[in-house]
Amino acid sequence: MRAVTVTPGVPGSLRLVDDHPEPSSEEGAILVQALAVGVCGTDHEIIEGAYGEAPPGERDLVLGHESLGRVLEDHTGTLQPGDLVAGIVRHPDPVPCPNCAVDEWDMCRNGQYTEHGIKALPGFARERWRVQPRYAVGLDSALAEVGMLLEPTSVVAKAWDHIDRIGARAEWQPRTALITGAGPIGLLAALLASQRGLEVHVLDRTESGPKPALAAALGATYHSEPVDQFGFEPDVVVECTGAPVVVLEAMCKAAPTGIVCLTGVSSGGRKIDFDAGALNRSLVLENNVVFGSVNANRRHWDLAAEALTRADQGWLASLISRRVPVDSYTDAYTPGPDDIKVVLEFAR
Ligand SMILES: [Zn+2]
Ligand SMILES: [Zn+2]
Repeated sequence: MRAVTVTPGVPGSLRLVDDHPEPSSEEGAILVQALAVGVCGTDHEIIEGAYGEAPPGERDLVLGHESLGRVLEDHTGTLQPGDLVAGIVRHPDPVPCPNCAVDEWDMCRNGQYTEHGIKALPGFARERWRVQPRYAVGLDSALAEVGMLLEPTSVVAKAWDHIDRIGARAEWQPRTALITGAGPIGLLAALLASQRGLEVHVLDRTESGPKPALAAALGATYHSEPVDQFGFEPDVVVECTGAPVVVLEAMCKAAPTGIVCLTGVSSGGRKIDFDAGALNRSLVLENNVVFGSVNANRRHWDLAAEALTRADQGWLASLISRRVPVDSYTDAYTPGPDDIKVVLEFAR
């Protein structure tokens, strides 16, 4: 069968193979026909050779962690043939650490977790894959066109879950949310903010292209001016750019008792002149919290599936800039100027 693979650590090794072996029964009892995989920055890093790890004893890694498929067979009775399904990306470490021991693998303490299409587990960019029931997330049949957005949505569902848990340290009635960055993660974070009834603000440096209209369709206010020029202080900030100046400005701008969730990964190495004492002073005197958030566990995947089902399906579809058939796979992995989310399609 066909699969998109790379040799981790070897730039330019991306290829479409047509003799990839069928998934082994050890991968899971649920056999799935791939419909599509979403492409993101992590895939680009793996293709550039900067990231990624093949399964033990193998040279190549099947790409793809943002999955959507249709169940072909499930003898466990968890799902029915024809059901839409996505596979959870991360599996707990084998030790396991205290968090993986209770299925909170998103909070793994020892880094020995594995991830489909990223770290030591084959990805979902292959015509058929298998999944164990505990890692299989069933999707509403209405999500056939957009269900590959479940993985990035699970990441923001976790961010909001942890914001709520931190907020619960005291009386917590947030009114305004600022989302920095209007890529897929930022726009999905804005979707979840709007579903919570918050006044949503989206910041992105881009003033053209599809982003302003996508934010406006959520009822959000779109900003391109620097955060420190805003006329309000957000109760919640979900930072999705990883851009050092934006991160620092967002941390300084949060309202008293505000919560700042960092989800963007900075490349590091850039130094800026910054008054760390003033930041410390405002964090202490305003009881602010700044925290990092990555990945998601089963609970967050289920919350994400509910959020996608509740969302406007046309809006979700408009996040998908291009749908590329697998025969033209290199196009899917070549970024375009106005891309929000690019999807590689295996079947329709
Ligand atoms: Zn991704
Ligand atoms: Zn762990």
